[in-house]
Amino acid sequence: MLGQMMHRPLSIIEILRFAAEAHGPAEIVSVRTEGDIHRTTYAETYGRVAQLAHGLAGLGIGQGDRVATLAWNGYRHLELYYAIAGYGAVCHTINPRLSAEQFLYIVNHAEDRVLFLDTTFVPLVEALADHLPKGLKLVLMTDRAHMPDSKLDMLCYEDLLEGQPTTYDWPELDENTAAALCYTSGTTGNPKGALYSHRSTVLHALMTAVTLHTSLREGNRILPVVPLFHVNAWGLPYSAPLTGAALIFPGPKLDGASLWDLMEAEKVTAAWGVPTVWQGLQAEIAKRGRNPEGFAEVVVGGSAAPRSMIESFEKSGVNVCHAWGMTEMSPIGTHGLLSKYHEDLPFDQKMKLKSLQGRRVFGVDLKITDEAGNPLPHDGKSQGELFVRGNAIISGYFKNAEATEAAMDADGWFGTGDIATIAPDGFLVLRDRSKDLIKSGGEWISSIDLENIVMAHPKVSSCAVIAIPHPKWDERPLLVVVPAGEDKPTKDELDEMLLEHVARWQLPDALEFVEALPLTATGKVSKLTLRQQFEGYKLPDMG
Ligand code: ADP
Repeated sequence: MLGQMMHRPLSIIEILRFAAEAHGPAEIVSVRTEGDIHRTTYAETYGRVAQLAHGLAGLGIGQGDRVATLAWNGYRHLELYYAIAGYGAVCHTINPRLSAEQFLYIVNHAEDRVLFLDTTFVPLVEALADHLPKGLKLVLMTDRAHMPDSKLDMLCYEDLLEGQPTTYDWPELDENTAAALCYTSGTTGNPKGALYSHRSTVLHALMTAVTLHTSLREGNRILPVVPLFHVNAWGLPYSAPLTGAALIFPGPKLDGASLWDLMEAEKVTAAWGVPTVWQGLQAEIAKRGRNPEGFAEVVVGGSAAPRSMIESFEKSGVNVCHAWGMTEMSPIGTHGLLSKYHEDLPFDQKMKLKSLQGRRVFGVDLKITDEAGNPLPHDGKSQGELFVRGNAIISGYFKNAEATEAAMDADGWFGTGDIATIAPDGFLVLRDRSKDLIKSGGEWISSIDLENIVMAHPKVSSCAVIAIPHPKWDERPLLVVVPAGEDKPTKDELDEMLLEHVARWQLPDALEFVEALPLTATGKVSKLTLRQQFEGYKLPDMG
């Protein structure tokens, strides 16, 4: 027997309509590319989003068309998120840090009709102009006074809105209608597209609002350092308005000093971003001798947050939530907030739990399997490939049957490419990405484990461990370190520290110093590039 309830489709524009009513005065603050600070509210934004939807109609956009953005975190980008989805088109956010080749690949693969860009990116688009799809319209996200001289034929964003009505008759869309498109940064092969629906996006917002409740609540002021151009800034453009939290958008400047100043001035309570960003902020905090006022929480993910980073925040009174997820999962899969029943644990135990990848959010199922695809027990010891299933996880890649086939198992679970263990109480531990794991003599060495330990050494600024092919052992670990200062750590010093936590055979075979580690378009250490840099490297016992 079926229930007798209305079937109202889940819809993204409904989040903003709700926010405009329930949290109307809550602020959206943006550091603009024009250089000033801009302030608006959810109520005002709803009106401007309606104006923008009229503007999209004027551009001849059809339902289902892909409308691309190339922009920093700011209010106009947020307006595009809502106007495009509400209109029934698909908001395709492009990562400006992609290579020219990847950029052109995805613009063509997505068949974008319009590209909205920040003034910062005019030179980038000018350089590629001859290779852009014919008929791609360009709209510069600024006002008439700031339109630059350019060989490009560009429309002006504020012109699109000017004089338009502040209401729009939003179409009622099937909740499975596509709303947003984001390509993984493609550290291997071409980027692959995750095509989110209205339903998956609204559910993800609800799932995360319930779980990450210490950040996502009315009165809080959240700084998304995680970009709107990468996995929808972890869903914040949807979950923050839903809960009434204010959004403080940092614009292009993401160095420690700029973030510290913005956080202090805007009384940011929670900041979300990848570990590399928090390294910069922590250095700035050390320099100034205190946290920005009101700073109470960090949500960190995208790559493993080192325990030393977590501890240092926690000791200064900042609650750390270490989250794990993927573009393909909208993206949040697990979160590291502790429960009431963890409260009495000693500090050290709490930090140990917080450095794990945490427990699943509602709507995400986890399983680990052996190489034959058999499920492994959640006993905290068995290690296998992590598969996920849930309400906000892709069922396949956009127009890419081959990648879809490779990623999905026979039961419809999505293979993450991560190697993990799951404890009986649900805590997930990511051992490595399968391609980064070091396979030594039939055993595995987790590069994440070694990096986490070495990162805590005071003479180390950052580090990465990569596999070097070895004639006897298959692969052996090489430790690459960016020293914190002139006084470099010795291999013996680091080994001594490592031996407190790992077996002797897991120690890196060699240590090399570099000035900086290569980063991916999403700010993670690019092990692929690092492996290329050390191609042909000879470990000490290889002659
Ligand atoms: P890309 O790296 O291509 O930009 P994603 O941003 O979707 O793609 O990255 C997802 C991957 O990042 C995960 O599969 C995992 O390997 C890694 N990752 C994300 N969060 C964490 C975390 N908290 N700890 C360790 N690894 C993480």
